[in-house]
Amino acid sequence: MSNKERIAIFPGSFDPFTIGHQDIVQRALPLFDRIIIAIGFNSDKKGFFPIDKRKAWIEQSFNGNEKIEVHTYEGLTVDFCHKVGAQFLLRGLRTSSDFEYERAIAQMNKKINLDIESVFLLTAPEYTPISSTIVRDIIRHGADVSEFLPKGMIID
Ligand code: ADP
Repeated sequence: MSNKERIAIFPGSFDPFTIGHQDIVQRALPLFDRIIIAIGFNSDKKGFFPIDKRKAWIEQSFNGNEKIEVHTYEGLTVDFCHKVGAQFLLRGLRTSSDFEYERAIAQMNKKINLDIESVFLLTAPEYTPISSTIVRDIIRHGADVSEFLPKGMIID
């Protein structure tokens, strides 16, 4: 490979960003020159938290680390990769169902875009049960979720 900057995007809904997401990004840092955390949205579907809030929480949790940027995008993830010049698409794997889902997407992405390589990191065992969906359910019922969120991130 040339000495071109190695840019990965880490796409997701991050509704909200959890300690599991943060761990994947931190562990991927040595592999890339830059990681762009890309919050995908669909203007027809309303998320649980507003997109600006999700973005601000992620930025706060990395506290100005200059290798990390946070963007929002709409549309195909591979199109966004081209837009920002990313050659790698980073995803986390927790379970075999994550694997099956991710395999199909990565193989389809490869069919339409030969130049983008998907890279997977296995979740750390202690973060395997953490998902944004479950965190949202706990919030809806008024319980404390702080142990599942990056340090200092406060849901108000
Ligand atoms: P999506 O809506 O695309 O599934 P998510 O925001 O749920 O996006 O997740 C983004 C990425 O982070 C996915 O690759 C997902 O598998 C991964 N991920 C989510 N939770 C965890 C976790 N606890 N540990 C490791 N990876 C995770």
